[in-house]
Amino acid sequence: MKAAVVTKDQNVHIEDKQLRPLKHGEALVQMEYCGVCHTDLHVKNADFGDVTGRVLGHEGIGRVVELGEGVTNLRVGDRVSIAWLFESCGRCEYCLTGRETLCREVKNAGYTVDGAMAEQCIVRADYAVKVPEQLDPAAATSVTCAGVTTYKAVKVSGIQPGQWIGIFGIGGLGNLAVQYAKHVFNAKVVAFDISDEKLELALSVGADYAVNSLKENPADKAKELTNGAGLDATVVTAVAKKPFNQAIDVVKAGARVVAVGLPTDKMDLDIPRLVLDGIQVIGSLVGTREDLKEAFRFAAEGKVVPIVSKRPIEDINHIFEEMEEGKIQGRMVIDFTSSSQ
Ligand code: NAD
Ligand code: ZN
Ligand code: ZN
Repeated sequence: MKAAVVTKDQNVHIEDKQLRPLKHGEALVQMEYCGVCHTDLHVKNADFGDVTGRVLGHEGIGRVVELGEGVTNLRVGDRVSIAWLFESCGRCEYCLTGRETLCREVKNAGYTVDGAMAEQCIVRADYAVKVPEQLDPAAATSVTCAGVTTYKAVKVSGIQPGQWIGIFGIGGLGNLAVQYAKHVFNAKVVAFDISDEKLELALSVGADYAVNSLKENPADKAKELTNGAGLDATVVTAVAKKPFNQAIDVVKAGARVVAVGLPTDKMDLDIPRLVLDGIQVIGSLVGTREDLKEAFRFAAEGKVVPIVSKRPIEDINHIFEEMEEGKIQGRMVIDFTSSSQ
């Protein structure tokens, strides 16, 4: 079967790969679609360490075609997702307190184990969250990482209906952050990006205001919109240091700044600002299986509509170039439906 494999020179090669036999508790999934997340770009660039030989992909959607021994929660034919959270230990303090993504023994699809950017993929059945049948499978890929991550991040921000939230970076994650914040949490949403096209997209999916941080000062604009107060919370999905600092500049005292983007850099924290204004800066990593179920439900109800374009697996290196150049609107999704019949 065809798979997108990371090479030593940090490229991706489409290889013919054989999967190992299923182990106890695992299922085999025939992939329909797999979204291309910016995290895949970090992974293949070795930003988090060398992963030569690894199959990428953690926004996978497909149907179960085979069950390993001991699987009771899935049936052949079920449509399931393959997310970043491939498996956790189920026993540690994090797993037992609703924070399974922080498990120290966690395995991640497309990073520490082979992922979903392939015609077939092995999944731990207990971690393969089912996808509502009324949800379009290509759109469902985006919920599997971008959607659940931003849904969770907005949850973590503690935003209340009618309050002001700023979303920094309106890429694959950010446009869904806008939609969850607006249509699920009923917040007032200000989108920040450095591309007018992305900001137009933000407005079209529900942002109340859009700010190009290259043309306007984000902090001044936030004050202007809120009668001098500042925003109640921010979520940062941008892949650069500057927007992380700006996300602190735009909020009011007592606000939360939720960090989601993964530039390999350090952010500046002005200590008096942090302490005297009681600012909370919190990292947020994807979401639990329960978060993913909830995120799917809102998408199935049509409150959140991912913007996806289908592409063949052979385009993968081009897609990464387009992503690096900031040219992608919404998400590019690898289409396996034509090759897997
Ligand atoms: P993307 O490439 O689709 O979007 C990035 C966006 O940031 C683009 O719209 C770009 O224009 C914008 N941007 C770049 N510089 C900016 C600046 N100075 N100010 C404002 N906006 C700016 O990427 P994505 O798939 O949305 O992923 C975003 C980041 O989130 C990546 O680093 C990815 O690895 C990370 N991520 C984190 C989690 C998590 O669990 N925390 C999950 C998935 C992805
Ligand atoms: Zn991702
Ligand atoms: Zn654990």
